[in-house]
Amino acid sequence: MLIDSHCHLDRIDLEPFDGELDKLLGAAQDNGVGHMLCVCIDLEHFNDVAEIAAAHVNVSCSVGVHPDATDVREPSVEELVDLARHPQVVAIGETGLDYYRLQGDLEWQRERFRTHIRAARESKKPLIIHTRAAKQDTIRLLREEGAAEVGGVMHCFAEDWDTARQAMELGFMISFSGIVTFKNAEALREVAREVPDDFLLVETDAPYLSPVPHRGKTNQPAFVRHVSEKLAEVRGQAIETIEALTTANYKRLFGPVS
Ligand SMILES: [Zn+2]
Ligand SMILES: [Zn+2]
Repeated sequence: MLIDSHCHLDRIDLEPFDGELDKLLGAAQDNGVGHMLCVCIDLEHFNDVAEIAAAHVNVSCSVGVHPDATDVREPSVEELVDLARHPQVVAIGETGLDYYRLQGDLEWQRERFRTHIRAARESKKPLIIHTRAAKQDTIRLLREEGAAEVGGVMHCFAEDWDTARQAMELGFMISFSGIVTFKNAEALREVAREVPDDFLLVETDAPYLSPVPHRGKTNQPAFVRHVSEKLAEVRGQAIETIEALTTANYKRLFGPVS
């Protein structure tokens, strides 16, 4: 079985599924995707993701406020720790830094990131990290705040090998998305080739970043199969090996799945 380690089930347009989330989840199951982590992007939507997770045994969720989220309630450490007690919450995030989408004085973004790392340490849950055009500060803050104590995942990884290496030294796994299937992503495929078996995860980030051959369409957890097939090809491993090791890694990081 495969596990989609990062998707946003509450944000997928269900029109092709007759408006039914269960049909989307059925399509995932038909493609061998046995579990999904539905990632929270702001506190205003936490109840939505928590309800989806509570209603489906094969869905877990996280709690956090995305670095790109503006005009949303700023979380405190206490609030994140409190929400993380929800039985379906297995991680804190997504959090991190994004200097691509937003510019100007982003001290608030770094503060928000620190808050999440502190909450993760206090609740003893791993972190889901989003980083874009900010690799140095991301690694620096993870170090300064002692994130190695809980570890986590660098989601939708699209950085260089040096960043991957530093993240792995801090106990962070490297999760590959549909980007690894894109024609112009040869440099990323070289990174994917080098990541040790014990640090590899797969994800869709659905509804975003549909892999080849579905580029331009709405992404869905079922498509994590295409990401895994590309990794198998690039790494010279059988698809069954990719399935087994990414599922084992997921469980080691986020806990058992049903
Ligand atoms: Zn992200
Ligand atoms: Zn995401």
